[in-house]
Amino acid sequence: MSQNLHEEAKKASLNSHSPYSKAKVGSVIITEDGSIFSGCNIENASFGGTVCAERVAIFKAVSEGHKKIKKVQVFTKDGWPPCGFCLQVMTEFADGDLEITFGDEHGKQTTKKLKEMLTHAFTPEHLK
Ligand code: ZN
Repeated sequence: MSQNLHEEAKKASLNSHSPYSKAKVGSVIITEDGSIFSGCNIENASFGGTVCAERVAIFKAVSEGHKKIKKVQVFTKDGWPPCGFCLQVMTEFADGDLEITFGDEHGKQTTKKLKEMLTHAFTPEHLK
């Protein structure tokens, strides 16, 4: 399964719009009911308008009514981990045990839990 997700994330990276960084990123997420959503990074000439692949996949899922994430897979050529923005967005739709796997073009994959990657996360609980 994890190899399939790696390949799916790699496939999603092919749609990347990254004329500025040249970094093609793909992501696949699995929601609570087993639905799969993919995303790629979408850059913008106004750099603040850029959105990462992980957030594209998450926003696609949420916009279609899926608000609980069970798994995140990310592909980049060099196996980059998700950025802080994406980890914060994951925090909104997953608990700290969410498994995040990031892999490179050689198939090397690293898996971490959300709570390991974003310690002391700002959660919806803080606003209650
Ligand atoms: Zn990001």
